[in-house]
Amino acid sequence: MQYKGDLDFAKALDRNDELRSFRHEFHFPQRNGRDAIYLCGNSLGLQPKNTRDYLEKELKSWQENAVEGHFSGSHPWVSYHEHTKETLAALVGAKTTEVVSMNNLTTNLHLMLASFYQPNGVRRKILIEGGAFPSDHYAAESHMRRMGVDPDENLICLKPRQGELYTTEEIVQAIKEAGDSLSLVLLPGIQYYTGQSFDLKAISEAAHSVGAFAGFDHAHAIGNIPMNLHEDDVDFAVWCTYKYLNSGPGSVSGIFVHEKHSADPNFPKLTGWWGHEPKTRFEMNNHFKPALGADAWMLSNMNILSMAAHRASLDVFARAGIQKLRDKSLQLTGFLEFLLKSDPVVSERIKILTPTDPEQRGCQLSIFLTQDGKEIFEQLIEKGVILDWREPNVIRVAPTPLYNRFEDVWDFYSILRGIFAC
Ligand SMILES: *Cc1c(COP(=O)(O)O)cnc(C)c1O
Repeated sequence: MQYKGDLDFAKALDRNDELRSFRHEFHFPQRNGRDAIYLCGNSLGLQPKNTRDYLEKELKSWQENAVEGHFSGSHPWVSYHEHTKETLAALVGAKTTEVVSMNNLTTNLHLMLASFYQPNGVRRKILIEGGAFPSDHYAAESHMRRMGVDPDENLICLKPRQGELYTTEEIVQAIKEAGDSLSLVLLPGIQYYTGQSFDLKAISEAAHSVGAFAGFDHAHAIGNIPMNLHEDDVDFAVWCTYKYLNSGPGSVSGIFVHEKHSADPNFPKLTGWWGHEPKTRFEMNNHFKPALGADAWMLSNMNILSMAAHRASLDVFARAGIQKLRDKSLQLTGFLEFLLKSDPVVSERIKILTPTDPEQRGCQLSIFLTQDGKEIFEQLIEKGVILDWREPNVIRVAPTPLYNRFEDVWDFYSILRGIFAC
């Protein structure tokens, strides 16, 4: 697309945006008497207006049905997770039996590590990235310690050869170099700091070629970019739902387990009664019979209030469709990049860390401020822009196609320009 650096152009794009009405389905924080310019959906997504109804419905069911709510009402709690499967499967490119909503992200990562990290003989290494999100690093490290494996020698913390970004070739090469010693590759779908996306298919293929598993943390990918986890032959994935999925602070997480693994009833896993085949679960006979697919990894009965908020949000996503969202996202972030790069007042004071290739990123641009970073960030906040700060000098800007307008991108740019110009 040929972009133009003016407000009328932004407004024209908004008028032609077939997803424009979705913005009105969200609550915006108010700043300086107007909707905040909210570019922080990568950290906490906005509240959909339908969330309250979904929550109230379950509060009412609890009030009126009490324990009978497990089996009565329009969405009995005992099978509530069934209602999130279809949209999740579409978002990550999986079969409905390969995904399930449960627990929180780091908890699920531990459950996946318990299944997919099985050090054996020389095969004991885990490859992660050097700049991994701390929770992911700690989780991998702690599984090694628990299994008597020394992380200092066996946790490969890959660093980019140059600068902040990786090439697929260097990741594949590191996997091949680790060879027989490699048990698991654990990488993000999109790196939280730089916004770089990874080639799931090439990485999974490389891992499998040396006999290792490939698992991904999709905290920053789900609801942001379309994925094909099943076809790409990913072994497992985890995600949270409070970022792009707008399911509320600390809301329920989710997992993907490829059906080739769940088909094996003896595949190692930590188990609980909720992972038992539902039909015979309540026979309570202490002979674990795994539920179908990813459901076998469930431990506990669900946090229904959190699931209700999750379902409310997924129902919005289902109506928008991830491919349409991605199409708009490419333009929205492309417009942001164009504005930042084409104006010397701005471009001379920043460096964009995120890849310029749209195929290697989602909606987020990570912007390194060359000087006075923290003050600039604070002025942006004061002027009604909500975005995210990362040490040492980086603002992460995430225009989300579901509720952000091209005009928001323009407003952010012109406020930033104003700060630089004075
Ligand atoms: C947001 C995020 C987390 C947060 O973990 P919780 O268990 O939900 O607190 C973990 N890992 C990555 C990569 C994230 O982006």
